[in-house]
Amino acid sequence: MREVRKGMLLVISGPSGTGKGTLCERLLRSDATMSFSVSATTRKPREGEQDGVHYHFISDARYDELLAQDAFLEHATVHGHRYGTLRSQVEAGIEEGRNMLLDIDPQGALSIMQKKPDTVSVFILPPSYTVLRERLKTRNTEDPDEIMKRLSNAYGELAQLKHYQYAVVNDQLDTAFERLCAIILAEKHRTIRYFPEIYED
Ligand code: 5GP
Repeated sequence: MREVRKGMLLVISGPSGTGKGTLCERLLRSDATMSFSVSATTRKPREGEQDGVHYHFISDARYDELLAQDAFLEHATVHGHRYGTLRSQVEAGIEEGRNMLLDIDPQGALSIMQKKPDTVSVFILPPSYTVLRERLKTRNTEDPDEIMKRLSNAYGELAQLKHYQYAVVNDQLDTAFERLCAIILAEKHRTIRYFPEIYED
């Protein structure tokens, strides 16, 4: 048997505080075929974030340059900061047959889904607004203004759920991760990206 696989574009969205980042990290650790698309952003790094790993942290001027060069597959302003997916990185990954994971907001996700209809889209939801509020406060990575901004944006983001193919409620991390893996496993076997060839023996 011989098998050829085409790379998958996997877009994951969800309000800040849903545990989306943790799910993505876990996925990248457990699935060697998955690569993270490192976005460019004008946001300042948080403690522990590394340039080139979590994001490419760039200046407004550099962001404008990249925009002018049409270097972004999609870009959006989220919570007052600018973020963009680097076209070259995603296209090179897919070309190599890799599965590319994009952790991006609904504006960017919708734009990618339009440009690339084979995109697999997953929306991660918190079990309740109360839990979301608590998670944002206890993770302690943003100042109170930033938390308020992220909470008020959550309502608008959740309204975009209907545009996604899959929804995963992250009530319990292990269960949510299992569900995410099941979606990915099924999507890997779609005949648009999986081509097994069998022979006599
Ligand atoms: P954070 O600042 O918490 O890392 O990310 C804030 C939001 O921006 C998250 O919803 C994240 O998914 C989104 N985001 C990160 N990178 C990109 C990107 O390249 N494009 C878009 N549209 N959103 C992004």
